[in-house]
Amino acid sequence: MTPDLSREGLVALLRLEDFSPVYEEADRVRREAVGDAVHIRALLEFSNHCRRKCAYCGLRAPRRDLPRYRMTPEEILSSVRAAWAVGYRTIVLQSGEDPWYTPALLGEIVREIKKATGMAVTLGCGELSREAYAALRQAGADRYLLKHETADEDLYQSLHPDGTLRERVHCLRTLKALGYETGSGFMVGLPGQTLDVLAKDLLLLGDIPCDMAGIGPFLPHPETPLKGAAPGSAELTRRCVALARLLLPRANLPATTALTVRGDNGRVFSGGANVVMRKITPNAYKRQYEIYPAQLPDTDIPAQRALLEDQIRSLGRVPL
Ligand code: SF4
Repeated sequence: MTPDLSREGLVALLRLEDFSPVYEEADRVRREAVGDAVHIRALLEFSNHCRRKCAYCGLRAPRRDLPRYRMTPEEILSSVRAAWAVGYRTIVLQSGEDPWYTPALLGEIVREIKKATGMAVTLGCGELSREAYAALRQAGADRYLLKHETADEDLYQSLHPDGTLRERVHCLRTLKALGYETGSGFMVGLPGQTLDVLAKDLLLLGDIPCDMAGIGPFLPHPETPLKGAAPGSAELTRRCVALARLLLPRANLPATTALTVRGDNGRVFSGGANVVMRKITPNAYKRQYEIYPAQLPDTDIPAQRALLEDQIRSLGRVPL
């Protein structure tokens, strides 16, 4: 099939009664462009402090009931070493927007990780200045994740009182220009979102163009203004991942944790995904880092890596 990937074409595809030909095409494109490997990334959530008030997020600044934590550089390095020892070769360091970690301190942590392990370092620490992004790149950071969340300006504004879509896209273009492998992504099923908005989300990924894209279902958090909203559909999310594969054949597309929470790991791999992230956040902190409610098991870095490798092999794919 030759799918129509214009805005109107994407809406028509998302609406299809039978999407299976598109999944097959996405799987074929994935195999040809990036092969059968599934890259397993270690995800360390090193601070749950955040100065922003995103309406959907369990870490939003107005939450006074949430115990906040910051991992020390030594704790971070110890977790990273434990992941490296069992085969992880990429570490994703994620936090809320927490200026306590200055670019100089973050850069020092990145340098230490590079020196100790040589791992690829992905950062996901929110919107920073061009100078800060450049300094972190200079320190050795390889990739940066900054989801745009929704490409509709009005919806973006209603969810993000302290930012604009324009600023977010500007950050993404800056990251790209600085030579980062740049990741964006969005949520599926946000209140007020239409299929046309999802088409815009997909096209924005191509426009940046992103090297990675995390697409997950919206899951309402009970301590946020969106607590009463319905969760996003796993099927519609998988459709978006498949269409992202068609738009960006060589991109790294994770089966996001949120989709795993919706019970859908294997199926998303057959529809275009080639990356999975495993949280290695220490148990003392893990429950305090819930952007959405997840009820994830305790962290056991070696056992969870081994289990995931087995699951990937059972799908006929190659864990890396
Ligand atoms: S989504 Fe990110 S920036 Fe927004 S409140 Fe949550 S942690 Fe902070």
